[in-house]
Amino acid sequence: MGVMNDPLTNDLFPQALLPMMLQGPTDLEGFRRGARSLIARHMLPEQVSWHSTDESTQDLFAPAKDTGVIAPNGAAFDAAPLLSVPPEFMALCKSVILHSDKNRFGLLYRILWRLAHEPGLRHDPLDADLMKAQHLAQAVRRDIHKMKAFVRFRTVQDDIFINHPEEGLLHVAWFEPEHHIVETVAPFFARRFTQMRWAILTPECSAEWDGGQLQFGPGGQKNDAPPPDAGEQLWLTYYRNIFNPARLKFKMMQKEMPRKYWRNLPEAEFISSLTASAHERSQRMVEEPGTFALRRLPVVNIAKATAEIDDKPATSLAALKSATDHCRQCPIGQHATQSVCGEGPHKAKFMLVGEQPGDQEDVRGHPFVGPAGQLLDRALSQLGVDRQNVFVTNAVKHFKYELRGKRRIHKTPSQSEASACLHWLDNEISLVEPEILVALGATAARSLMGKPVPVMINRGQILQREDGRKVLITLHPSALLRMPDDEREEAYAAWLEDLAHLQDSATRE
Ligand code: URA
Repeated sequence: MGVMNDPLTNDLFPQALLPMMLQGPTDLEGFRRGARSLIARHMLPEQVSWHSTDESTQDLFAPAKDTGVIAPNGAAFDAAPLLSVPPEFMALCKSVILHSDKNRFGLLYRILWRLAHEPGLRHDPLDADLMKAQHLAQAVRRDIHKMKAFVRFRTVQDDIFINHPEEGLLHVAWFEPEHHIVETVAPFFARRFTQMRWAILTPECSAEWDGGQLQFGPGGQKNDAPPPDAGEQLWLTYYRNIFNPARLKFKMMQKEMPRKYWRNLPEAEFISSLTASAHERSQRMVEEPGTFALRRLPVVNIAKATAEIDDKPATSLAALKSATDHCRQCPIGQHATQSVCGEGPHKAKFMLVGEQPGDQEDVRGHPFVGPAGQLLDRALSQLGVDRQNVFVTNAVKHFKYELRGKRRIHKTPSQSEASACLHWLDNEISLVEPEILVALGATAARSLMGKPVPVMINRGQILQREDGRKVLITLHPSALLRMPDDEREEAYAAWLEDLAHLQDSATRE
C-alpha cells in the first residue's frame, strides 16, 4: 500500500492528533472499520480524536481533504485485518455508542486498544474504563426504557387521512431523549403499533411508520407535534381516577418517572396537585362509606327462579336484559343491584367481552363505565375505533363481590357461575352476530372458546370457535390497572398492539 494512498500513515500527521470522522452519532460500522485500521497501524488511543457529523463545528462537515479529517471508508480501511474481540465488548459498543457523551468513541477505542494489549482486562470488573463504559450503557438502556414508557401519541387528521380515511388517523408524539436512541427504539413502536400510522418527533431526528415502512428524518420542535386531543383528555380523566393517594410513594415515583420527562407527559400537570392533596384524600377514602347495591332485587328461591326461566332464547336485547335481571341460576344475582347486559349496535362487527360488571357498572347498569372501561375507551380512541360502533358486554351478567367492611370488593366468578351465565352470552352473540369476538381476559376467553385458554400464550391471536366465529384473545383492562406503575405503560402498549386487529373498519359494510 503506497504511503500517499494510506490516510492513516503516521507521517502525514507527525505531531497532530489524527481526527476520525464518523457518519452520524451512531455510526457503529464506521467506528469498527476505523478502529480496526487504527489498531492495525498501532495508533495509540491518545493519538486519535473521534468526531461525528452531528457535532456542530461547521468544518467537520467539510470534505476530508480540506480539513484533514478522515472518514473511515475506502480501500485502506477495508483492507485492515479483522480483530477478534470478546462478544461482550461488541454488545457494550452497541449501547455505549448511543450515549450523548462526546468522548464515547475515544473511550471505546481505548478499551479496544487495551483489550488487544492487556489480555486480562476483560476479566477486571473494577477497571475504570470498563466501569465508565458500563455506566454509559446503563444510562442508554434507561433512556430506552423511558422512551418506550413515556411516548404519548396525539391524533392528527393529516392529508392522507382526509383523502383516504381508510388509512386511519396519524398519531404524532413529541419526545426528548437524552441519548441517540430513536433509531434503536423506533422498531419497538413499529412492532407495537403495526396497524397505526405514527410519527415520533425529537429534537435530533424523527421516526415515521406508514403502516409498512419505518423512515427516519430530521429533528423537529415541540410545537411541530399537535396539541392535546380528546383521547388525551380521556387519559387524564383515567389518570386522575386510578391515582390512589394511599399508595403514593413520591420518591419511588420520581425514580421511575423522573421530573425531566414530566414536561411532555399530559398527566404530569396533575402530579403536583394530586400529591399535595394525597394525605387528605387517603384520609377521606378511609372515612367514606362504601358503595352498596342500590336496588336489591327481591331475594328469590333459586330453584324456583331457575324453573321459571323461559327455555327459549330472548329475541331482543331488551327481553334479554329483563330475563337476566331475574336470573338466579347462580347465586351472584341475588346480591347485585341489577344485571348488566351488553350495549352497542344491533349488528356490530366487533363484540368485546369482559368478565363481569364491576362496582360502578352494577350501580349504573351499563358495561365498562368504571376505571377499566375508561382504559378501554382510551385504547379504542387511540386506535381510531369509535366505541359507539362496537358491542361491549361481559361473560357474566351480575357483579360478584365480597363485603370488606363497607366496601364491595370484586370477586372472580367461579367456573360454574360463568357456565350458568354462558347461555345469556350465547344469546347476545346470536342476536348481534358479530364477525369478531374479543375476549378480554381469562373468564371471557374460557366462556367464548368453551375451554380454558391461557391468555398470555394466546394474546394477540385470533382463534376460531366451533361455530366458526373468530375470537381475538387479549388481557382484561383491569389486569393493566393492577400492574405496578413502572410496568403499566409497556403493558398498555402491548395491549394496544393486540387490540389493533380492530382497527380496520369497526362497522359492517
Ligand atoms: N370489568 C368487566 O369485565 N366488565 C365491566 O363491565 C367492568 C369491569
